[in-house]
Amino acid sequence: MTGEEDKLVFALEDEQQPVAGSWQLLVVDDDQEVHQSTRFALGELRILGRPLNLLHAHSAAEAAEILRQHQDIAVVLLDVVMESTAAGLELVRLIRQELGLTKVRLVLRTGQPGYAPELEVIERFDINDYRTKGELTQARLVATLTTALRAYQQIDTIEHSRQGLELVVKACNQLMKFKGLADFSKGVLTQIAGFLGLPPDGILCAEYEAEAGWWVVGAAGRLAEHIHKPLAQVPEPGLRHSVEKAVLEARHQFAGDHTVLYLASGSHQGVVYLATGRPLSAADRQLVELFAANIATCHANVRLMEAMSKVAYTDPLTGLYNRAGMQQQLDEDVAQGHAAVLALIDLDQFADVNDALGHETGNGLLLALARRLQEAFGQECQLARLHADVFAVLGPAALLQAQQLSSLLNRPFTANGQQLVLHHHLGFCPVTADAGSGANVLRRANIALNKAKLHLVERGIWFDDSMESDTAARLDLVRRLRQALDNEELAVHYQPQICLDSRKLMGMEALVRWPGGPGPGDFIPLAEYAGLIIPLGLFVLRRACRELAALDGQGVKMPHVSVNVSLAQFQAADFISQVLAALEDAGLAPHRLELEITESIAMEDPHVVVRTLRELKGHGIRVALDDFGTGYSSLGHLNTLPLDRLKIDRRFVTGLAPGQEGPLMSLILGVAKSLKLESIAEGVENSDELAWLEAAGCSGAQGYLFARPMGSQALADWLATWPQG
Ligand code: C2E
Ligand code: CA
Ligand code: CA
Repeated sequence: MTGEEDKLVFALEDEQQPVAGSWQLLVVDDDQEVHQSTRFALGELRILGRPLNLLHAHSAAEAAEILRQHQDIAVVLLDVVMESTAAGLELVRLIRQELGLTKVRLVLRTGQPGYAPELEVIERFDINDYRTKGELTQARLVATLTTALRAYQQIDTIEHSRQGLELVVKACNQLMKFKGLADFSKGVLTQIAGFLGLPPDGILCAEYEAEAGWWVVGAAGRLAEHIHKPLAQVPEPGLRHSVEKAVLEARHQFAGDHTVLYLASGSHQGVVYLATGRPLSAADRQLVELFAANIATCHANVRLMEAMSKVAYTDPLTGLYNRAGMQQQLDEDVAQGHAAVLALIDLDQFADVNDALGHETGNGLLLALARRLQEAFGQECQLARLHADVFAVLGPAALLQAQQLSSLLNRPFTANGQQLVLHHHLGFCPVTADAGSGANVLRRANIALNKAKLHLVERGIWFDDSMESDTAARLDLVRRLRQALDNEELAVHYQPQICLDSRKLMGMEALVRWPGGPGPGDFIPLAEYAGLIIPLGLFVLRRACRELAALDGQGVKMPHVSVNVSLAQFQAADFISQVLAALEDAGLAPHRLELEITESIAMEDPHVVVRTLRELKGHGIRVALDDFGTGYSSLGHLNTLPLDRLKIDRRFVTGLAPGQEGPLMSLILGVAKSLKLESIAEGVENSDELAWLEAAGCSGAQGYLFARPMGSQALADWLATWPQG
């Protein structure tokens, strides 16, 4: 090979390299002269502000190869007749169908007018222009190319936004899954970098915190070292200045080499700083704005999740774990085989203190006890208040000796200025793998505690296996329940649900009762344990449908009845057909029935749940998510469930009062709204709570304030008095 040829090869290879920002054009022709004249005609030209970069192919096969490698070719100038008279059109088919390139614009050229493709072909393959080579003067060629490039640019923009939108949607769904703020901000950074095509470098996410001011909650690349530090300490005055400006003006900042997103939702403020190194295109700006609007919502959701899990696992009065929180700790210990002891402490006469000295003193006493336990065991043990006056300490056996615990508790407490000395009882249970679950450890410790109370044993009682013969009593209860079920001795009571806008009846909830037996909170778990929940649930369902039909017959306008469904029922193969049969037997339309499922059902195998819910909804049956807020579901998942409404658990309602903040409740109502679901608050007991809910736009309420659950006769009487019935 001579030196000259060497250079030529280089030059040709060079030519195939795109110039940054240039239009990629592919000239396909088997005539070398056409390539030269095209190059000559287009030369140094700029079209729509950008230079042209010409790629050359001399056969259809070569063209196909180049097209496979260069996805960014904007226009192909194509000779119709090459190796064969059909070669050009064959290539067109390949481009559109096989390679699936829909963006690239096609301009056909032919030497002979006779080879014009049919109009139908031009349409079918989305061909922009067809010219004989004679027609294509330089001016004509440039005009044709300009039109084609403009079309390409439009298609490209649309395509880019579509892809961007998809990414934004995906990114937001991704973010919905994060349960903690730290993960969330890391997620935001990666997602933004992802859809802007930036390296995740020089990105920072900061949040305003009441006590600490602006705080860096996430950062990547060169800024990573500033995580968990005040924003004011980031040694980049330019960055700080841009962020300040965004906060001051409360809007995004788009500058030449960086972008600052300003995020606000409710009382929360955040910023995301992006060192883009270039101005964002209009399309990217729109995407980023859209994304920012969505992160704000996601962010609120993540906060909600954090707050809700806190509510779910902590006792609001003492700040210790509650029963669920302790159970979770125990589950972990059992699973990991940690040797530990669970001690339960029950205060005697606590109820008397409450009655005689008032709630304030009662609460003060509980707080004083919590503080004392924290001082003594806070370092090594987990502490909980299980309910009213029962506390739990979980920790090493050496620490939890009855003697020491007793002397700790026998010292007087000071509450509300009063000195109090209280007796107590102790129950102990070792945490062992054979307990199987945290719930079982709690149950065993409780058996020991009850025994200590019953026999007035001062020094506490340790659980031992013989105590489980209490199961004999349980078995007896199961036998009685089965009998009650067989003899149809169970009753169904109904509690009205009120629409807060109109004060009209929205519906009623069916709640099972066992006359002479324990309350449903006790016997429903028993029925679940003993495998009786399926016949029991069916009994309630059928009875509820019949009694709603009976109300119809009396001319009462009761929109629907809500029936509680347990997991085992929901999973039974014939569940849906049983529900449909109950409706049909009662002569009720499916939309008159609502099924209340709990978060634990909703979080079971997502595919099965979604399929079953879809099918129910397909029949027109309504579905409500019961006790919302007590589980720990991801909103991303809730989003996929076909629900009609959220029933908000009583613990979020208790204590609401007009003019006061109810941040959790506000967030939950926001979630309901964003998921386009009706909301109903449970356990509304007084007019303060009602007023708060009305002002916040909650759709419905249920609770003792309106009515307690009642038998059908009492319900009929109550309905006669309800003015807007
Ligand atoms: P749930 O579904 O959350 O039912 C609401 C509970 O709150 C009912 O307790 C109701 O009587 C009570 N309640 C209503 N308004 C107020 C109020 O203003 N203040 C207070 N403090 N409580 C109020 P209930 O009837 O004891 O039922 C307890 C749980 O038993 C139900 O909780 C539900 O999970 C279960 N259950 C009841 N009936 C059935 C049933 O037929 N099938 C199934 N699977 N579970 C049922
Ligand atoms: Ca319910
Ligand atoms: Ca509930």
